[in-house]
Amino acid sequence: MSKLFKRTKILATIGPAVFTEEKITDLIMAGVNGCRLNFSHGNYMERDQQIAWIRAAAAKKGRSVAILQDLQGPKIRLGEIKDNHMDIKAGDELILDSAITEHDGSNILPVQYNLAEKAQVDEPIYIFDGKVKTHVTEIISKTAIKVEVENDGYIMSKKGINLPDTDFGGDIITEKDMADIEFGASRDFDYVALSFVQSAADIEKLRQILLSHGSNAQIIAKIETKKAIETDENLEEIVKATDGIMVARGDMAVEAGTEVVPIIQRKLVALCRKHAKLCIVATQMLGSMVENPEPTRAEASDVANAVIQGADAVMLSDETANGKYPLEAVKAMKRIILYTQNNSTVAPLEFKQVGDDKVYDAIAGATVELAEEIDADIIVCQTGMGATAAAIAAKRPDLPILTVTSNARVAGQLALTYANSAFVRPYSEDYGAKLVYELKNSGCLIPKEGSDEILAVIVSGIKDLNSGTNTIRIRRI
Ligand code: PGA
Ligand code: MN
Repeated sequence: MSKLFKRTKILATIGPAVFTEEKITDLIMAGVNGCRLNFSHGNYMERDQQIAWIRAAAAKKGRSVAILQDLQGPKIRLGEIKDNHMDIKAGDELILDSAITEHDGSNILPVQYNLAEKAQVDEPIYIFDGKVKTHVTEIISKTAIKVEVENDGYIMSKKGINLPDTDFGGDIITEKDMADIEFGASRDFDYVALSFVQSAADIEKLRQILLSHGSNAQIIAKIETKKAIETDENLEEIVKATDGIMVARGDMAVEAGTEVVPIIQRKLVALCRKHAKLCIVATQMLGSMVENPEPTRAEASDVANAVIQGADAVMLSDETANGKYPLEAVKAMKRIILYTQNNSTVAPLEFKQVGDDKVYDAIAGATVELAEEIDADIIVCQTGMGATAAAIAAKRPDLPILTVTSNARVAGQLALTYANSAFVRPYSEDYGAKLVYELKNSGCLIPKEGSDEILAVIVSGIKDLNSGTNTIRIRRI
């Protein structure tokens, strides 16, 4: 059973390429555990449609599927450029003005964010995913700045702008994000991802805003700014403050250089395991599959590496949102995950775990050690808010974790957590064992050859008057 059971999860971005309930159902059946809605594109009507499709598909197929709202953050873009193309040369001066909307072909360009409020003279500004490098020469008005171009190239409408050295001073949540958060709070999202996080304070701010809207979504910090990764201390502070992170390799490569990406990825996966936080590796994992039905060797290595490092989830962006082969991309990703997990161990922990709660940590460690020692079929985790399940997952056991909780929100969130299959059942002292009976009777859990019993290690992280707060039991079912 555990050979077919995918421990590293797949998060797929929903977009025009998969714009029907049927296509989303196909993705889920092919191995998708979570859907990302990218709020940089699309409108609320489309969002509601997608949410309904995802929830319906998951319910019909009896799967837990997490939905992640990805907030745009200060992802700054050019406005419309005349004829959608403008050649530029090193030494050219451009004016980026948020007060204009029309481009008349001159060097005055519309931009969707007031750079004059944040940028300083001499700071670098990169346009078109880093293809055009410039630096600020003058703040010319309340809404406009002047930059000098450093290399020949061209620009097009709506291309992204990066400000790698600009300190947003905790002001990364835009007006659009605020509206999107409000929309999301009534839409039942499992996760909210925040783009261009610079510090732990950004996470705390978002948490307050979510709480004020009554949202209990968990927070994913997208790690993609130069500032976030500047020091190991800052990275770790962010990991501690958040519920999970996304290694957002696209913008990270533009802001900090492609060469830093692999090492930051490794550090982040390790830090998340240390603090039992969710870790998603994102962007261009199977990028060539936007055009081709098969991944490249380098892409297969990339996914396998994330699996070996112990990421909770790997993400597909354009591959599923806009690509020609969305379903093939999910299937390829699943094949690579399964082959890798069945033929390699996950890298040992780089840090000794010092979870915030020593008891959870010790119980989780003992559970995994015990389960592996007795060659158990499964770990069953009775959890309230998911902390015990996360602590066990952080140990990256090479056997399935069945989690049972009475809280549907917690089950949805665990859909992206390593090796976890979460079930919602009414609470009782032995609802873990009951779940195992149920799954065995329905043929979902099959005993090892030569046995007619499932050997389960059942851990309870729930305060129970009779059995105490934390108990580990071995059951033959
Ligand atoms: P984005 O984030 O796709 O929203 O930009 C991911 C990344 O930057 O890699
Ligand atoms: Mn990004």
